[in-house]
Amino acid sequence: MHIVWFKRDLRIEDHQALIQAVQSAPVMPLYILEPELWQQPDMSRRHYMFLQDCLYELDQSLTMLGQKLIIKVGNAVDVLDAIRARHAIQALWSHQETWNGWSYERDKAVKCWCKSHTITWHEPFQNGVIRRLSDRNDWSARWYREMKKPMLRAPSYLKTIDEYSDNLPDYAELGAGQDSVNGIQKGGRTEGLRQLKSFLYKRGEGYSKEMSSPVTAFDSCSRLSAHLAFGTLSMREIFQACEKRNQEIRKMAREDKGKWPSATRSFSSRLRWHCHFMQKLEDEPRIEFKNMHPAYNGLREQDFNNDYFEAWKSGMAGYPMVDACMRALTATGWLNFRMRAMVMSFASYHLWLHWRKPALHLANLFTDYEPGIHYSQVQMQSGTTGINAIRIYNPIKQGIDHDPEGSFIRHWIPELRNIDQAYIHTPWQAGSQMNGYPMPIVDEKTTRKAAADKLYSLRKNNAAHREAAQTIVKKHGSRKSVSTRKRRQKQAKTPIQCELPL
Ligand SMILES: Cc1cc2nc3c(=O)[nH]c(=O)nc-3n(C[C@H](O)[C@H](O)[C@H](O)COP(=O)(O)OP(=O)(O)OC[C@H]3O[C@@H](n4cnc5c(N)ncnc54)[C@H](O)[C@@H]3O)c2cc1C
Repeated sequence: MHIVWFKRDLRIEDHQALIQAVQSAPVMPLYILEPELWQQPDMSRRHYMFLQDCLYELDQSLTMLGQKLIIKVGNAVDVLDAIRARHAIQALWSHQETWNGWSYERDKAVKCWCKSHTITWHEPFQNGVIRRLSDRNDWSARWYREMKKPMLRAPSYLKTIDEYSDNLPDYAELGAGQDSVNGIQKGGRTEGLRQLKSFLYKRGEGYSKEMSSPVTAFDSCSRLSAHLAFGTLSMREIFQACEKRNQEIRKMAREDKGKWPSATRSFSSRLRWHCHFMQKLEDEPRIEFKNMHPAYNGLREQDFNNDYFEAWKSGMAGYPMVDACMRALTATGWLNFRMRAMVMSFASYHLWLHWRKPALHLANLFTDYEPGIHYSQVQMQSGTTGINAIRIYNPIKQGIDHDPEGSFIRHWIPELRNIDQAYIHTPWQAGSQMNGYPMPIVDEKTTRKAAADKLYSLRKNNAAHREAAQTIVKKHGSRKSVSTRKRRQKQAKTPIQCELPL
């Protein structure tokens, strides 16, 4: 018998591990619920809720093929060992996983176990992230080649095997923390497919323009990130659906195309970014814990202000756009890219918090938590990669630009629901209308300037910084087109971009 170990690929379509295993022997489709994983600080109840939906549907799909999903609760090596005691296992199949430090160590233990029992562990390629990548130069071309390969159809039949499943524990039984989420996305493949279709044919037309504002983004973005993180849909499947839609748009009369060409173009690039960022963690797992560029070690560590951190977490920092975003994220499990960047930038620059604790808090809140994207983005928005132009967002300007009427703010901050329009982005100027909403915990202008000065003095005329940055670019940087390269070179001349006071 061969075991197919489902990890972050909870589907039967376009599932290379499953298809290949089925061609060789009877298979046991297995999901291991690892309590130790759920006790890690980056895991939360909303991830578990989404997972439960996904497992339910995966089980239904497998049952229709003839063999239900076997769920086991425990440490992976112990579970595999117990299965081996009852079945003659020849091989283990699972997709390559680029995930957190804990899963990396677990995979090392499983590898040892396989070796000691002469069980072959096949790990096919999953989504365009390349293991043991030697050179970044050809990466994009390889990604496109992979995405254009035909999709793999689900097997038509699975032989029934004799094995029992454990019950999924209640979240509280896992000993993990609480979560006040009340409106997260539904998991499972049916929902993923529904989102994909509604985005490509209905919701997504205004994507390019509407993705940046939280007023429009909840509806205009694809909302596929959690489905990608749990693998209910494959990256190739989404890429190809987008290509198909592109062909249809190309055939439309000019007046019917509307904004679709730009929407699908932007969306398709972002699918590549997904893997581009994951590749960074695959190539350098330490960036989950340590600064990508060593020059930033020690910059913020000693200054961590816990009161600021608590205020930021609870949406009580006194800047309406930041607070509305944190409250919306806590309640729904999602936030658009621009606002994720802004809340992280505010924590790292204005509050001068080292990124690690804020990153863990956001990991808990994002239903779509994907370590490869998450830590790369967190470090970019904190200025610790050493290779990106530093952008310090002004939360007041972001509010004016992306929520001019204040409707998003009024929705998520009830204290400000009735404040005069003139003060919605600067309620501290309204005096008696604050209605229990706090004063800003820091002064925006002073803290932004202080952060910019510290970073600038660290980078300025620093040959060692430049040298280390070149190594990082070689390892992780995307290979840009000539026009993008020129634009980047221009940006690099002013490496700190502060959004100016109003
Ligand atoms: C601090 C910070 C942390 C982040 N953490 C995560 C995370 O844990 N998981 C995650 O999936 N995304 C993360 N992102 C990236 C981005 O914000 C989300 O992918 C996006 O908002 C998800 O919503 P969507 O599926 O509707 O995206 P869409 O805009 O519809 O994009 C489609 C897909 O493209 C990919 N994508 C889009 N933007 C990016 C980007 N900037 N970088 C890499 N891939 C991208 C995602 O897979 C996304 O699902 C983070 C961004 C920041 C600034």
